Amino acid sequence: LEKSDVDLVSFLNDVVEMNTGYGAEFQVDFDFSTRLDTAMARLAPERMMQVFANLLSNAAKYSPTNDTVRVGLEDDGEYWQVSVTDRGPGIPESARETVFESFGQVQNTDGKTRKGTGLGMAIARKIVLAHGGEIDFESEPGHGTTFYVRLRKPHLEADLGQGDTETASLSDVA
Ligand code: ATP
Ligand code: MG
Repeated sequence: LEKSDVDLVSFLNDVVEMNTGYGAEFQVDFDFSTRLDTAMARLAPERMMQVFANLLSNAAKYSPTNDTVRVGLEDDGEYWQVSVTDRGPGIPESARETVFESFGQVQNTDGKTRKGTGLGMAIARKIVLAHGGEIDFESEPGHGTTFYVRLRKPHLEADLGQGDTETASLSDVA
């Protein structure tokens, strides 16, 4: 995993900008806001971009038309926590694992499934875990879903700019 030092504040601004196409496709706006001025993390930018492209495309796909998907960034102790919130149909508790399985598509609480291969979240989870991070969600059926991605803060300022020591492999990601 080829990591570099990235400021999540500017990274998430780029994420929103690079995915406006999904917003347009589903007539949904993306809005990123945070109280943080800066949030340095070590990550593989193209891989992490893939994670957020999937989270934003899912949120857009399941949002009501003309709605806004909110992207947030918070300080969560050892982690930076990114959130992606939609007001779609939600994900039933019984599908908590299925969402992250390859080819897993859930019958949403509105009874509809939408087009897709069911690979996006399986890949996203592999990428986040390979970064030593966490991914999960909270959902209220009928009201919406928030996905969370937590990325470890570098332990010390001195960690930033150091060589790659991690050996996590993404070889089984397409
Ligand atoms: P792909 O991303 O491969 O094009 P996909 O979007 O269907 O296909 P995933 O991104 O892996 O697949 O998501 C898996 C399933 O989880 C979705 O098919 C959907 O049932 C459910 N899901 C994911 N995100 C949301 C969301 N924001 N709201 C409601 N259901 C969701
Ligand atoms: Mg998807």
